[in-house]
Amino acid sequence: MIMVQYDIVIVGGGPAGMAAAVAAYDAGCRDVVILDREVQAGGILMQCIHNGFGLHKLGKELTGPEYAAVYEEKVRSRNIPVYLETTVTSVSPDKIVTAQNRHGILKIQAKAVILAMGCRERSRGALNICGSRPSGVYSAGTAQKLVNCMGYQVGKRVVILGSGDIGLIMARRMSYEGAKVEAVCEVMPYSGGLTRNIVQCLEDFDIPLYLSTTVIQIHGKERLEGVTIAQVDEKRHPIEDTKRYIPCDTLLLSVGLIPENELTRSAGIPIDPVTNGALVDENCQTKVPGIFACGNVLQVHDLVDYVSEEAERAGVGAVKYINGLKASNTCIETKAGFGVRYVLPQTITSKDEDVALFLRVTQPFGKVKFSVTEGNKVLATTKKLKAAPGEMEKITVKASALQSVTGPITVDLEVL
Ligand SMILES: Cc1cc2nc3c(=O)[nH]c(=O)nc-3n(C[C@H](O)[C@H](O)[C@H](O)COP(=O)(O)OP(=O)(O)OC[C@H]3O[C@@H](n4cnc5c(N)ncnc54)[C@H](O)[C@@H]3O)c2cc1C
Repeated sequence: MIMVQYDIVIVGGGPAGMAAAVAAYDAGCRDVVILDREVQAGGILMQCIHNGFGLHKLGKELTGPEYAAVYEEKVRSRNIPVYLETTVTSVSPDKIVTAQNRHGILKIQAKAVILAMGCRERSRGALNICGSRPSGVYSAGTAQKLVNCMGYQVGKRVVILGSGDIGLIMARRMSYEGAKVEAVCEVMPYSGGLTRNIVQCLEDFDIPLYLSTTVIQIHGKERLEGVTIAQVDEKRHPIEDTKRYIPCDTLLLSVGLIPENELTRSAGIPIDPVTNGALVDENCQTKVPGIFACGNVLQVHDLVDYVSEEAERAGVGAVKYINGLKASNTCIETKAGFGVRYVLPQTITSKDEDVALFLRVTQPFGKVKFSVTEGNKVLATTKKLKAAPGEMEKITVKASALQSVTGPITVDLEVL
């Protein structure tokens, strides 16, 4: 067993891990290491060969691997070590990181740890769809990797369950590959994806989107032969007389992402039941001092640009922590009010700087006004022409507005 020491250990070398490392380095910490279980850094971006990455952060529209390459170059030019094919198996509350690779077991005593492990996809087992277990049923991300990275054609006649971004992007990708996408079914009465993806991936390809509809049965023995779909009522129960059989050889499931928080839990870090990520402050510090979390492991992001921004805060926060910057006595809780599903960070510990609050709404709305308030006192507002659960919102509260705050602050929306 090898035992080494680093000031900052970053678990995961996706866009979050790389941006956190670069920010920590630029904030003055030269002793940073990134650990990733894959053969290359870049995380999920390496299979996202479509464009749409970097518009906010880099001011240009890149593909996933191009966006990752920008950060890989930043990591390389700073000589930040990246241990690849190295799987972290535990993180202890006293910041000992245990990892395994072909050389054996590695233990690293860190002064601060940044968790950036991303998400995994929810699978068929979590849905309880009845029927047989033929081949041809994939999670959308697995199919994306097989098509984009390995060059396989996974099927010719496709039904997609779930209209989140991965499902929408795979509908277009399968069409490019010559497959016929029969339908995208969505159990909710609205799509979970970005508006731009609904337009560019479904409408441009004449692919029907059936809302309030789900797959209730899978047919086929060796290979998938078809699925039965049905509309659902307001309790999401299938409506018997709307059942319909669609012949297909492939079913792609895009039914949600689960933040990879096994290491987080084993370190004793409290998790928010709504985000399924750690409870954090404005520096992305969890409730265990010196352990930070950012990227999809903290909250599921739709845009990588926000992942990078959040990770930079975690990187700088980790440097402040190891430099002994004491947490102030401030502890302002943030709360989700009307129409808001969650607000992140869950606590604010300093009034010295502006704080960006990230949130998602509970359902689609038209024109809305978001307000951040403490009782009757309004601290910040912003208007949006429309708001949807698939799109993360950001509201900045100025440091000057925080000065007088003593109790919890709430984010509400008002329909205009
Ligand atoms: C299909 C799809 C399409 C998307 N399209 C867009 C788009 O068009 N535009 C856009 O801006 N965003 C898009 N996104 C969102 C964006 O790509 C993600 O939000 C972002 O990649 C998340 O970055 P991350 O670093 O948090 O996680 P990831 O990219 O998942 O990286 C996590 C890394 O951690 C590593 N890891 C996990 N556990 C361990 C462990 N125990 N030990 C060692 N390493 C570990 C993994 O190997 C991985 O490399 C898309 C996402 C998906 C899935």
